[in-house]
Amino acid sequence: MNISDLNKLTKALEFAADKHKFQKRKGETPPPYINHPIQLLHLLTDVGQVEDVDVLCAAVLHDTVEDTATQPSEIERLFGKRVCQIVMECTDDKCLPSMVRKRLQVTHAAEKSHGAKLVKLADKICNIRDILDAPPAHWNKERRMAYLNWSDEVVTQVKGTNEALEELFYTHLQNGKAALDS
Ligand code: ZN
Repeated sequence: MNISDLNKLTKALEFAADKHKFQKRKGETPPPYINHPIQLLHLLTDVGQVEDVDVLCAAVLHDTVEDTATQPSEIERLFGKRVCQIVMECTDDKCLPSMVRKRLQVTHAAEKSHGAKLVKLADKICNIRDILDAPPAHWNKERRMAYLNWSDEVVTQVKGTNEALEELFYTHLQNGKAALDS
């Protein structure tokens, strides 16, 4: 990665940290929201060996449009068309009911770009890890299990994207299911 890529990635981190500054993750002792995009970034570089700076920037920015007041035009202006496209591929339409959004994630996953599939994979790994390690207090076993099954359905649709990330996802999934079953 050259200095201009590194600069772009750092700018994305600064931008996302600012956009998510008032948000927290779920769980009993909720960490700052920005920890989540940083975890995606680390999974992609460390486990996925992903070096494509646009994909890494999109991972950092993937929840800004969905969960903050960020406009897609802002992302495009600052980070370019491709980063914006990947972010938008990973953005659910919040006008739709949650059940519909979840269904659409499964039916549309296979049509996404390679970059968006990588971000989705890392996002699902982080989310199931969070649900298993630090579940929201009001989530019972059934709800956690339903979340694992739904994540499994989405990841099944993007099979063949990145072997190491998929392997890690299924390891967490199996451990999680076993823990919930016991
Ligand atoms: Zn996310």
